Amino acid sequence: MHALSCPFPIRQYPQVLLAHGGGGKLMQDLINKMFTHAFGPRPESGLHDSTVLDLPVHKIAFTTDSFVVKPLFFPGGDIGTLAVNGTVNDLSMSGARPLYLSLSFIIEEGLSMESLWMVVRSVKKAADEAGVKIVTGDTKVVDRGKGDGLFINTSGIGIIEHGLSIVPANIREDDAVLINGDIGRHGIAIMAKREGLDFETTIESDCCALNGVVESLIKAGIKVHCMRDLTRGGVASALNEIAKDAYKAVEIDEASVPVDEQVASACAIMGFDPLYVANEGRFIAFVPESQSSNALEILQAHPLGRGACRIGRVLPENGGLVTLKSVIGARRILDMISGEQLPRIC
Ligand code: MG
Repeated sequence: MHALSCPFPIRQYPQVLLAHGGGGKLMQDLINKMFTHAFGPRPESGLHDSTVLDLPVHKIAFTTDSFVVKPLFFPGGDIGTLAVNGTVNDLSMSGARPLYLSLSFIIEEGLSMESLWMVVRSVKKAADEAGVKIVTGDTKVVDRGKGDGLFINTSGIGIIEHGLSIVPANIREDDAVLINGDIGRHGIAIMAKREGLDFETTIESDCCALNGVVESLIKAGIKVHCMRDLTRGGVASALNEIAKDAYKAVEIDEASVPVDEQVASACAIMGFDPLYVANEGRFIAFVPESQSSNALEILQAHPLGRGACRIGRVLPENGGLVTLKSVIGARRILDMISGEQLPRIC
C-alpha cells in the first residue's frame, strides 16, 4: 500500500475546491486520478450510472451506513478505515460474505488534498484486507462551513452461502453469549483524541474487519443463532436490542466481560460505563450451549478472537430484559442508555 502514489496534482490543488464536485474537468480529474486510480480497475460495465454485478447466490445481505466521525484521524484508524470495516462488519453479522461496497464522499471545500488522499489510501487498504471491492461511488463538495471536513456514506452487499438464519428471533433459552475480545477501545480512543486527554499509553481503536473471524465460526459448523457488532451504545445496547427483538431474557456476568486496564481507568476518569462505550472490532455471538466451548476455541484460535470469552446466557424467561450479575453477585437491570453517550464516534 505504501507504494500507492497519487497521480492527482496535490501540490497544484492543496485543498478540495467546490469545483472538484461541480461536474467539470477538475472533478473528472479528481475522480480519475485519485478514486479510480485507488479503487480500480473499472468494472466491466465501465464508468456508468450504475455498476452491474454478478452474484452467484440467491440470498444476499445489503446494508448502508454513514460516517461522520470527529476527528477524521484517530489512534488506530481514520474515517476511511471505519467506513469500510463498519459496513463489512454489518454484513458479517448476518453471516454474509462481504463482496462489494459503494462509497460516497461528501467533502467540505477546503479539506486538504493530502487528508483526502490519506483517507482514500485507508479505504483501499481496509478494502483489500477485508477482501471487498469498491464498485461504485460518488463525490460531492459542499461550501466551506457547511460540512465538517468529510462525511462518508457506504453501502455493502454480501452473499449468504449457508443455511443458517442469523437473526435476533433465533436466540434460544440456554444459548451462550460469546464476545471476541475486550471492550471500549474505539469510543475511548476517539474521546481521548477529541478532548486532548493524555493517558499513560495511547489507547487505539479496535477498528477491524470481522468477516474472517465470523467465517471461521460458520465454516466450522457452529450453528450461530445471532450476532451483533458492538458499535454505538456498546455491549449493553446490542444485548438490549437483541433481547427486546427476541422477547427473551439475557443475563450477563459482569466479571467475565473483558475490559483493558487502561480503558477501565479512562472510563473512570471520563465518567463512562465501558458496557456502553463503542467498539469497531468486537461482536457478540449467541450460540447453542452444546457448541459453546467449541465455538470459543475457534474464536480464540483467530487473531481477532484471542481475547474471546463467554459473558452470559439466554434465560428461560421471556420479556426482553437484560440483567447484569455483578462481581459481588447482586443482579441489576442493564438498560438501554437514554440519550446519546458519545456523539460523532462513527
Ligand atoms: Mg452493526
